Amino acid sequence: MTKLKMNVPLVEMDGDEMTRIIWKWIKELLIEPYVDLKTEYYDLGLQKRDESNDQITIDSALATIKYGVAVKCATITPNAQRITEYNLKEMWKSPNGTIRSILDGTVFRAPIIVDSVKPFIRTWKKPITIARHAYGDIYKDVEYRVEGPGKAELVFTGENGEIRQTIFDFKGKGVLLGMHNIDKSIASFARTCFNYALDVKQDLWFSSKDTISKKYDHTFKELFQDIYDQEYKLKFEEAKIEYLYTLIDDAVARVIRSDGGFIWACKNYDGDVMSDMVATAFGSLAMMTSVLVSPDGYYEFEAAHGTVTRHYYKHLQGEETSTNSMATIFAWTGALRKRGELDGIDDLIVFADKLEAASIKTIEEGVMTKDLAVLSELSDKKIVNTRNFLVEIKLRLDEMLS
Ligand code: NAP
Ligand code: MG
Repeated sequence: MTKLKMNVPLVEMDGDEMTRIIWKWIKELLIEPYVDLKTEYYDLGLQKRDESNDQITIDSALATIKYGVAVKCATITPNAQRITEYNLKEMWKSPNGTIRSILDGTVFRAPIIVDSVKPFIRTWKKPITIARHAYGDIYKDVEYRVEGPGKAELVFTGENGEIRQTIFDFKGKGVLLGMHNIDKSIASFARTCFNYALDVKQDLWFSSKDTISKKYDHTFKELFQDIYDQEYKLKFEEAKIEYLYTLIDDAVARVIRSDGGFIWACKNYDGDVMSDMVATAFGSLAMMTSVLVSPDGYYEFEAAHGTVTRHYYKHLQGEETSTNSMATIFAWTGALRKRGELDGIDDLIVFADKLEAASIKTIEEGVMTKDLAVLSELSDKKIVNTRNFLVEIKLRLDEMLS
């Protein structure tokens, strides 16, 4: 078989621990035999980040702006213990945070669905994708512990003077909180969500609590609606998909009753909470994909889970591991498919589809890692180790390609 050709490289961001091992094996077994893989390689492993004073993380994000598509392995976000373990110069920031702030993106998280692992919600048949706004709200708030009686006011000092509003007349102890958002960030969140919905041809829901928060949440609702009416209504009609705004409590009720297959855009805190709820209800963190989409159309694909440290330490001891590589494989297929779409290489899209199908088929035929075996409803299950799971996928991929 001749290998598939690529024109433009993928930005490859390597990572740490167990996922770094899986990364190498995925390339060796499932990609390089079939694709003449072109990547611009950035080693975001903790050691290389330390050596470069984290410049390599910044360089990898800038390369994503240059080429448009990146695929990222999970990386360690250092804490005090890692400083000793890796003898670090500094407690470097989270690479994901650094990359996100350079690309200014929205994070979309979607589960990989297999028939034999049933979601805890019986009606869910198709994936539910959570799009989380990643700016402002309580994550950038100012808080105050009120120790005794006094008047709390909201004061804004603008070019034309001061606006003052009483928040509360405290008679005793209490708490206060101030938070903000900016139109520019809300609008780019909205556009990214509308573009993503068109991209995957799924309905978009957006929810907030505008009946109670008549300025704050109402501004989100209004900006989404204006942008939709002016820029996306016709495109949505052509694509036969819908935009729905509803109150967050109504959205929660609808989500539970639904059969899935839509994108749920959430404000920062709602998205933080709801993405963990949805991920757990679908079964396993190891089956959750994540893609950062910037308003300028750059994409960074990754698994939602971390570096699976406990398994890595076992691996270092020479013990057998059974780590699930599905989300990391789907990060690669997501990136290859996007490259295919952007560069007009249909064969690359077909290959990505087949690799995903072969991976799902493997689990459907009862061959899986330990984490899924406890969730799967199949009676005949074969638990395999980390590498053999990839070997089993390769067998099925070869069948599909021949
Ligand atoms: P984690 O790596 O996601 O692992 C937590 C636990 O979830 C594992 O111990 C394992 O459970 C299970 N698990 C996760 N992924 C799995 C997989 N693919 N296959 C099988 N089981 C899986 O989270 P963590 O232990 O909190 O963090 C470890 C490191 O990852 C930290 O240094 C953190 O900074 C980093 N991290 C990176 C990212 C990222 O780069 N996007 C995200 C999160 C965390 P059992 O041990 O019970 O088998
Ligand atoms: Mg959370």
